[in-house]
Amino acid sequence: MRTYAYGYPRLGSRRQYKTLIEGFWQGKVTEAELEEGLRALEEERLGAYRAQVDHYPVGELSLYDPMLDMALVLGVYPWTGRLEDYFALARGEGALELTKWFNTNYHYLVPEIPSPRFRLAWNKPLKAWEAHKEGFPYVIGPYTFLRLSKGYPEEAFGAYFQALIPVYEELFQSLSGAEAIHVDEPAFVLDVPEEHVALIREAYAHLGRKAPLLLMTYYEAVGFLPTLYDLPLKGLGLDLLHGPQNLETLRREGFPRDKVLVAGLVDGRNVWKTDLRRAKAQVEALRPLVGEIWISPAGPLYHLPVTVEPEAKLEPALKARLAFAKERLKELRLLKGLLLGEGEEEAHRWNAYPEPGAHWYHPEVRARVKALSPEDFEREAPYPERRRRQEARLRLPLFPTTTIGSFPQTEEMRKARTAFRQGKLSPEAYQALVRERIREAIRFQEELGLDVLVHGEFERSDMVEFFAERLEGFAFTEGGWVLSYGTRVYRPPILFGDVRRPRPMTLEEILYAQSLTDKPVKGMLTGPITLLAWSYVREDLPLEEVAYQLALAIQDEVRDLEEAGILVVQIDEPAFREKAPLKRRDWPAYFAWAVKAFRLASRARPETQLHTHMCYSEFNEIMPYIEALDADVISIEATRSRGEVLEAFERQGYTREIGPGVYDVHSPAVPSPEAMEAILRRAIQVLPKEGIWVNPDCGLKTRRWEEVRPALEGMVRVARKLREELG
Ligand code: GLN
Ligand code: ZN
Repeated sequence: MRTYAYGYPRLGSRRQYKTLIEGFWQGKVTEAELEEGLRALEEERLGAYRAQVDHYPVGELSLYDPMLDMALVLGVYPWTGRLEDYFALARGEGALELTKWFNTNYHYLVPEIPSPRFRLAWNKPLKAWEAHKEGFPYVIGPYTFLRLSKGYPEEAFGAYFQALIPVYEELFQSLSGAEAIHVDEPAFVLDVPEEHVALIREAYAHLGRKAPLLLMTYYEAVGFLPTLYDLPLKGLGLDLLHGPQNLETLRREGFPRDKVLVAGLVDGRNVWKTDLRRAKAQVEALRPLVGEIWISPAGPLYHLPVTVEPEAKLEPALKARLAFAKERLKELRLLKGLLLGEGEEEAHRWNAYPEPGAHWYHPEVRARVKALSPEDFEREAPYPERRRRQEARLRLPLFPTTTIGSFPQTEEMRKARTAFRQGKLSPEAYQALVRERIREAIRFQEELGLDVLVHGEFERSDMVEFFAERLEGFAFTEGGWVLSYGTRVYRPPILFGDVRRPRPMTLEEILYAQSLTDKPVKGMLTGPITLLAWSYVREDLPLEEVAYQLALAIQDEVRDLEEAGILVVQIDEPAFREKAPLKRRDWPAYFAWAVKAFRLASRARPETQLHTHMCYSEFNEIMPYIEALDADVISIEATRSRGEVLEAFERQGYTREIGPGVYDVHSPAVPSPEAMEAILRRAIQVLPKEGIWVNPDCGLKTRRWEEVRPALEGMVRVARKLREELG
């Protein structure tokens, strides 16, 4: 019996990773200091592993992103080894695209592979292993690497994959002295077509003879698990928490005696302590089915903050229930102890918690969810009637213009918020500042001639945190940072109790904005699925029920906004798709409740125009669910796909109004009017012009005013031009 852990956060206990690398970008940290800092950080990470577990990988640390590193290892991009060139690929002009890593909130750099020519250009795994002389060399496996890359024709997958194998062979051969090699293959848990299974089998039948490979899968079950059983591997890592199907396969088919089962039993994605006795029972149930078993986290630990230890402000009853990455390592040690018949008492203490506070539970919230009936998920009037009533109230021109919500968050505003939170700035002074910014934003939008205005979201730090802070049932850490990509961090709230809205959350700012203009101001809310997806969520209630609690709180806010005279409300759901299970088969069950939660949250009066916003463009497969949301207007990303996304809406005969993002807010470049016009013309070709809105791709929070002004000026001009031509 051994323990194996991986994916320990690269951020560091004091966020050294961020400080070092960003310091280097700003010229405040020299290359030598960066190297030294990263060495110390790696020592800290390895030290954390060493203190608690038997085995761990080495070489996981990356300067920005492990997928980019793997592309460089495989010679996909010419690279001289200069740091500047590395960071240019990661974040320079023409950098690699960022996209979601599976259904997590980590984003990886997507390698673009123009030709099946690879070579072992940088033996990073060997370097790390030689430098530390410990641990299992860490490698992203060929299937995951290629499946998550782009730029090759789909039908050439096999050819590209086969071209990778000799390079992996050389790589593994160079590492053959290691006790094991950690080969990350999480893409095995996606829907893997049969042809791919054949490729995988063939490749590993060969590679497995070159070095002792531990194939690590996680996030879900491997649909073709038994076909891996006769491969010459040292072991297989399986997620036994999020992949119940893995357990079924083990029970049905057993597990080859000649391989190690790395059993993922400690959660890598959520923060609740493992029930050690239950985990012990699980391992004991597995024992007769398998040969050697190692216990491990069910997934890499970087989806968790580093440690809960220093959190001084968390309620003790809550803190006692939490385990972040460092605590997960400890759980592995405790679990191993229990299985060996030692440490009974320490394990017992680990799972002994103070009683939860009375404020954790609200019977009236539970009762409200219980009492929901089918009508609660329906708007009161069918769409055509709603549209008529909304048009009569809003009287918008053809091609109405709007933005997605936020305007630039200046350094001044962020500083003021910090000062306000620390009690150094009075609530009145803070509010006055927010109001000043709102006044400017309204004046700015009126000058530009936008049709539906926004208040600018200046009072919000983050679209999830803002609402979580105003709802009961959420807790916040001081240092619970997690990387979302590169060096970018966020701090997920912890949803631990019943969700209640003690008072209106957005009324004050929205109404103030509306008082300054005759144009309609959109009420801006975050939807229930996004609130769930970007938080750590309690597990003592079904997710569906938690989603309905959140939805009801949002619905109450919608009602208050309407009551106060707001005509348009937008509910953002950027995580609607991200939260979807990795396998198609599981989609209907997820979307059934996700759609219901949105409909519950958005149950506005028929005359209120209800918008939603999603900032991605892969709608092809989820169109029926988008339609089912029953929103009146949807704004989406369209620039990066050059408007191709609209064809999905056309094919489905989408009848609602739609705002294809006409320019990419993620780039500082001011968009050309021609490019914006091209997207709109494409939209007009495929959808009725009466239903087309003109707006950017996403919120403008991260842009500067100097970029936003000319961009929006151009956007309004384009809308006017088309209005004249086609109106
Ligand atoms: N309303 C939000 C904003 O404009 C939407 C952000 C998002 O979709 N990620 O910032
Ligand atoms: Zn967006």
